[in-house]
Amino acid sequence: MSDLDAYIERDDGLPKIIRKECFTALSPSRLPGLDLALNPYTRCAHACTYCYAPYIMRVAPKEWGMSVQAKINIPRLLARELPRKRGVVGLGTVTDPYQPAEAELLLTRRCLEEMVKAGSSVTLLTKSNLVIRDIDLLAKMASAEVGITLNTSIDARAAVFEPGAPPPSKRLKAVRALVDAGIGTYVFLGPVIPTITDHDLDGLVNSLIETRVRSVMVDRLNLRPGMRERMRVAMTERSPSTFDEFDSMVDDDRFYNDVIIYLKRSLTDGGIVVVDAF
Ligand code: SF4
Repeated sequence: MSDLDAYIERDDGLPKIIRKECFTALSPSRLPGLDLALNPYTRCAHACTYCYAPYIMRVAPKEWGMSVQAKINIPRLLARELPRKRGVVGLGTVTDPYQPAEAELLLTRRCLEEMVKAGSSVTLLTKSNLVIRDIDLLAKMASAEVGITLNTSIDARAAVFEPGAPPPSKRLKAVRALVDAGIGTYVFLGPVIPTITDHDLDGLVNSLIETRVRSVMVDRLNLRPGMRERMRVAMTERSPSTFDEFDSMVDDDRFYNDVIIYLKRSLTDGGIVVVDAF
């Protein structure tokens, strides 16, 4: 059994990895600024309670984070498709391209290697500091843009709704490393969540300014069917002391407007360009 097979077959209590053969690597994208979408993984071990992807992929939200499908043949297909499919590639448009399995499986890295050879332009979004492993490849690309998502600078707060993702302290270091390497970098500040994002807004703003990132995209939480209840359960289990406060604000439009206005003003004062998501 190869190392790769051994990793896929492991049984260590972490999300199960399911080997998947895909038929196409690149698909058309309707997202603004993107021509093509590339997703080496379906489903996501970061297991964010508020994730919108299960609604897109028609996965039962309560099963989200329990398994990951790895498209093991995607680098080979991509190499074949790149000469005839041109345009900006969105890497990880549905689920995170740097979730934990990527450290072993290297599917995202091997896709980037193919894109370097083809002279492709890429934009990717992740919650993982693992992306800095691939700075060498990103720096060689004709055009590369990396977005790092976070909605608080406090590790313990992030863990309430993002139990499988690296903590924001690591993500902020990754932002700084990308900026220092000259990679086009932005922070996706979202979703804004009561008792998470607003717990220490000035700390969050200062952390972002310290990274020297020039651009932040901000977005509020948009509740989907059943999401409020799942978030209530996660908050009850992981941070019961803040449950009442969270519950009173989670669907209050004024909360989101006030926080976003404050963030925009403070970040702009710190020299960061702030834009609304989508
Ligand atoms: S990292 Fe992104 S794709 Fe993965 S669970 Fe969280 S929100 Fe969903």
